Amino acid sequence: MKYPEKIHHWIADNDVILSGTETYLPKYNPSNGSQLGLVAEGKEHQIIFMTAVVAFENWSHTPVVKRGEILRTATQLMESRKQEIVGIVALETGKSPKDAAGETRAAIELGYFIAGEGRRFYGQTTTSAVPNRFAYTTRQPVGVCALITSFNTPIANAAWKAFPALLCGNTVIMKPSEYTPYTAIWFAKILKEAGLPIGVFSVIQGGTQTGGFLVSNKDVNLVSFTGSVATGKEIAEIASKRLARVCLELGGKNPLVVCDDADIDWAVECAVLSAFSNAGQRCASASRIIVFDSIYEKFKQKMCDKTLALKIGPTDEDDFGPVISLTQLKKVLNAVNEATSGKEILLTGGSRFFHCDYPNGYYIQPTILENIPANDPISQEELFGPITCLYRVKDLAEAIVLANNSKFGLTGAIHTSSIHRKEYFKNHYRAGVVSINGQTYGSEPHLPFGGLRDSGNGWREPGAQALDAYSEWQTVYEKYDPNLV
Ligand code: NAD
Repeated sequence: MKYPEKIHHWIADNDVILSGTETYLPKYNPSNGSQLGLVAEGKEHQIIFMTAVVAFENWSHTPVVKRGEILRTATQLMESRKQEIVGIVALETGKSPKDAAGETRAAIELGYFIAGEGRRFYGQTTTSAVPNRFAYTTRQPVGVCALITSFNTPIANAAWKAFPALLCGNTVIMKPSEYTPYTAIWFAKILKEAGLPIGVFSVIQGGTQTGGFLVSNKDVNLVSFTGSVATGKEIAEIASKRLARVCLELGGKNPLVVCDDADIDWAVECAVLSAFSNAGQRCASASRIIVFDSIYEKFKQKMCDKTLALKIGPTDEDDFGPVISLTQLKKVLNAVNEATSGKEILLTGGSRFFHCDYPNGYYIQPTILENIPANDPISQEELFGPITCLYRVKDLAEAIVLANNSKFGLTGAIHTSSIHRKEYFKNHYRAGVVSINGQTYGSEPHLPFGGLRDSGNGWREPGAQALDAYSEWQTVYEKYDPNLV
């Protein structure tokens, strides 16, 4: 796969340089540390907003079934050209082709699901207290949507936001992570090929500064953001000042509870996958493994054995790949060093992993810690790396107190054979997603995903619920006169 030397913006169906003085950020390949190319850093430029505002008029009045048909064609194109995007995602993130194919599959399924919603797009019909009047509700688009995404699953992140936003009749300005810029350009070209009208979907490249001017622009009616809590709060503050809608999908510090009646081997398998897949760069990653005292030592031994057998690298034979950047690698390892300066115990990992074929890749050994106080930073802050902590508890009540001792509330899992414990956990652990006897999941395309407290601000993606994020309800009253029949 040939990666472009320079990656630009996508405006009005074209690869665009915004000015003669465009500045660029380097883009590295995380699997081997080499420079892949340069990515443009967008500046405040009215043309981006004008394009989206002008295109809104026609697109918002295109029948929603037709909008769904265009999205279905785009999804079919994604499916038939899957190998292209798998190659781009693998190159930009450093993950293996099989993992890139997994997230591409999820993006495609989401595309089909949302395209089908074009044939439903249900509102409500209802009654009225007034004689000879009835009422119903319809969905209307919100306007110009700025979609700002993270790097961890770039094509899935783009699909989660763009498909529902477009189906609802909005125009879109996407700002992908500066670490995964070309994935968004490929997606834009697919939409164009599928027949999406000119100007309906734009991409603006860049990092913090570029995201900042999108958020502050008065023509942007909705900001949908997936990323860290700190950035999410900053965005909410700025956009809320002009009462723009803000949908935040933020981080997690997800617990996986293992009871004394669990299938231990299965629980270990789920814990290892939940903690380390995608190098722990998942908002749904299990970074707190809470285990009953009576099985703690047995579980710990099995989990360490399985973890030490994991293979690290960028190929399909490996279990997980690098983290996204050298900066992220250093941040994660510093946090581990700081956490292990006292009585805390490092059970596995804790250092950079130097791959024999790719010594400059950003690999971190899968790391398990124990003996960590519940309020230490490493128990509370999301690291977004292959790091997890083991905690020992005496019973379910203590496990739930610990699980809830977090500013986040995204996902959580319990392993037990008791329907009573499962039910109790579901009703007492406060999070947007709960998994019984499984991993700490993301979401299937037809189900809502999102979290409480610092994990978000109440909106849900994907599922049919995503349509609520990207549309306004209009209530219509119709009065008729029986005398005129
Ligand atoms: P980040 O906040 O650093 O960046 C996210 C995006 O925001 C990037 O595109 C970045 O360029 C942009 N950005 C940065 N500063 C900005 C600003 N001031 N204004 C506007 N845009 C700005 O996050 P990240 O490191 O890319 O992603 C990791 C985080 O994302 C983790 O917290 C993870 O849990 C979260 N995440 C959440 C979900 C979810 O669905 N809840 C999914 C994936 C990742």
